[in-house]
Amino acid sequence: MPSLFVATANAHKVSELRALLGDGFQVLSLRDTNARLDVVESASTFPGNALLKAVAWASYLAVDECGMGAEWVLADDSGLEVDALGGAPGVHSARFAALDTGAAGNSSDADNNRKLLRLLADVPDGKRGARFRCVLALVPVELDAGTEALAARSRFFEGSCAGRILRVPSGGGGFGYDPLFVPDGYDESFAVLGEDTKNRLSHRAKAVESLRATGCLGR
Ligand code: IMP
Repeated sequence: MPSLFVATANAHKVSELRALLGDGFQVLSLRDTNARLDVVESASTFPGNALLKAVAWASYLAVDECGMGAEWVLADDSGLEVDALGGAPGVHSARFAALDTGAAGNSSDADNNRKLLRLLADVPDGKRGARFRCVLALVPVELDAGTEALAARSRFFEGSCAGRILRVPSGGGGFGYDPLFVPDGYDESFAVLGEDTKNRLSHRAKAVESLRATGCLGR
């Protein structure tokens, strides 16, 4: 069974990716190691940041004694693009509120959601379109391979999910902007619809579908 290390500290992403990949993979995560890498997501695109995370972890795991037996690293970079904000917060989704204060690190989901609602306060219902985007970078763990060799072997898989932004948060499930995002064709937010429905429609689901369609992991 192929073993994949999911390179994210976000437990919700791990849970969604585990469910989306299904039983045919051994999914490892930060729970399986004490190592913590401080990867600065300095790229201006989702693929760029996904690659930074995947290569950093693949380089770490490629050192013999750190490996945990992971054959692949899968990194997820994702975010929300809001039409009325010219595509913001985009790659800054995790630290949207912190952009105003210059605070280091990510902001809380509540702060990010409050900022989004404030910026959209005067935007009418018909103009509140948005989409979630997800880019997965897949990098093999190869003993003693350098970062350039690992980057050269990376593969990218993308998915997006269109919808609209509510005026008040709704629902207790999910994470991030889920309480504010209603996918096209539905009347409730992802946070109300729950993980099973989200996993049929989401940007992450589509990216995993595209990964599986290539058969590059043998499943
Ligand atoms: P990343 O960990 O740097 O990729 O940041 C992703 C950020 O985008 C998260 O912290 C959320 O704010 C947002 N985001 C990405 N995917 C989702 C999702 O499925 N639901 C809600 N928010 C999401």
